[in-house]
Amino acid sequence: MEKLVVLGTGNASARRNYNTCFVLDDGQGNLLLVDGGGGNRIFDQLDGAGVSLAAIHSAVLSHAHTDHLLGMLWVLRAVADMMRRGVYEGEFTLYCHAELVSFVNMFIAMSFDAGARSLFGARIFMREVVDGETLDIAGHRVTFFDLGSTKLRQFGFALSLHAGRRLVFSGDEPLCPAACALVHGADWLLAEAFCLSGEAEYFRPYEKHHSTVADACRLAQSLDVKNLVLWHTEDTHGPQRRQLYEAEGRRFFSGNLFVPDDLETICLSGKVRR
Ligand SMILES: [Zn+2]
Repeated sequence: MEKLVVLGTGNASARRNYNTCFVLDDGQGNLLLVDGGGGNRIFDQLDGAGVSLAAIHSAVLSHAHTDHLLGMLWVLRAVADMMRRGVYEGEFTLYCHAELVSFVNMFIAMSFDAGARSLFGARIFMREVVDGETLDIAGHRVTFFDLGSTKLRQFGFALSLHAGRRLVFSGDEPLCPAACALVHGADWLLAEAFCLSGEAEYFRPYEKHHSTVADACRLAQSLDVKNLVLWHTEDTHGPQRRQLYEAEGRRFFSGNLFVPDDLETICLSGKVRR
């Protein structure tokens, strides 16, 4: 069964929720980690989701903001450590754009010890990807695209699921016009929604180039998306967030709407009912 394992759902300011990151499980033993959240709480989230880091051999990093990048640095450190202890088999590859490759390599050179550094290029690989490139990763055909961010270069991707279905991850910014073509008719869209529209004055999503729930749902509706996952949110509403966000979202989006909690697993296969 193809699954989306939600490790975190918060935005960069979230405290209760971990920052948005996730694992795609193709149901055949292939796991793809996408972003790392903001710190070593990534390990608690993996443990809580029942995902072993030793089983992850591929990861994608979307951009260099702290709430996405720092957890990935911890992952790289832990993978290197496990390799040295003989408890990680095979290789690990991190896919990201050129600036991220430079940044992560610089961090490794400055911070990791010689034993860990020696594994980079031998068993741990930084694979630079370019806008429009398609690669086979962890059981999927993955096409990367530049989100056209005006803040910091950021990549999303479109990914093949079984039976010709498509999933698109649009990072933590609204879709740019070029990316909309890739999303049109997608079976799954994983999109950011910073806050409710009625709270935009308080949370100010537009200053940070983010969307409200209403914005994300209107866009998904216009692109004929079938299943929409909203995350990268504020976390002041606690357990009421799902109900509040779904109530707003359903006014604008007629497909299946998901506002997951941290550590929730969403089945990506077949007909989805809630
Ligand atoms: Zn973010």
